[in-house]
Amino acid sequence: MDSDAPETSKLPPDGSANYFDGMSSRRRAVTLRLADRLEINEDEQPLAAWAYADIRRADSPAGMLRVSCLTAPALARLEVRDAVLAGQLVSRCAGMDDDIPGRRGVAAIIGWSLAATVSIIAVVLFGLPLAADRLAPLVPAAFERRLGDVADAQVKKLFGAKVCDNAAGEKAFVKLVTAIRESAGLDTSVQSGVLSSSIPNAFALPGGKVYLFNGLLAKAENADEIAGVLAHELGHLKHRDSMRGLIHDGATSFLVGLLFGDITGSSVLIFGSRTLVTSSHSREAEQNADSFAIDVMHRLGRPAKPAGELLLRVTGKEGKGLSIISTHPLSEDRLARMSREDQPASRPPLLTAEEWRSLKSICDAKI
Ligand SMILES: [Zn+2]
Repeated sequence: MDSDAPETSKLPPDGSANYFDGMSSRRRAVTLRLADRLEINEDEQPLAAWAYADIRRADSPAGMLRVSCLTAPALARLEVRDAVLAGQLVSRCAGMDDDIPGRRGVAAIIGWSLAATVSIIAVVLFGLPLAADRLAPLVPAAFERRLGDVADAQVKKLFGAKVCDNAAGEKAFVKLVTAIRESAGLDTSVQSGVLSSSIPNAFALPGGKVYLFNGLLAKAENADEIAGVLAHELGHLKHRDSMRGLIHDGATSFLVGLLFGDITGSSVLIFGSRTLVTSSHSREAEQNADSFAIDVMHRLGRPAKPAGELLLRVTGKEGKGLSIISTHPLSEDRLARMSREDQPASRPPLLTAEEWRSLKSICDAKI
């Protein structure tokens, strides 16, 4: 039944294909029927029926369509060599190519590995920090957004975190973020959210995402503290510091991969995402983000010092708290500077007392 001969592809499809059930390695010659689902039959007996929406393309040699199904065993595969039949099947499967860690992820990983390779070469030529500085502005925004999406999924998985969005809290958060974003001169492509993790931290991902962990919100005493931290992260975004960091760490993990002979995309990517959240930016990047935050807060008519107080409260005087924000260095220096350059409030608070309470409980279950 294996229609290997090229001339068979010109004939009307006879429905023949090869099927692996994902349990054994046995190849079964089957007949396909394109009904309201894809019916897979062996000797007139139904073996499986796959919903078209669940069918995904798998890697295959040229001249063959190989597909899997989201609801079938992970290793189940169907191989169609008949071009006409393959075409008919593809035209019914709208989700064929949007496998989440599949093509898009792979494209990002390949692109990223490429960036890492380039940066290794650049390391040799210019030294690492300079390489990252030169490369980051060259990364196209679309690619950076895609990378950000992959990192976003990884971060949520890594910390087991969900986006908190009870209605009242979300409303207050949007109000706060919008005021800061507009004052910072950033457009609406910036996305932000509160994540349900008790770790006190905030971070920016490549491609325009800023996340606040609920743990930081829990330690905050007023909206100015959170506003200043968000403004600081927007500063990192504006200066594309996380892209710079990613290229920097991309080179590092690529070198580690070379050493251990393991350059699988996912391990590198998890390492990269972890680094994005936990590692510190350079001293210079931190100072620039602080300048940005001080500026934004003063333009809003609000003090900048509270953010410094919050960060110091979280890291402690020694800067050795358990929190990963402790890797954000110089908390005392930061507070000193923010105090020095502080201006008293000239406008009303960014949130009312009630909105602030709502924001604090944004991760509480919906009422
Ligand atoms: Zn920072």
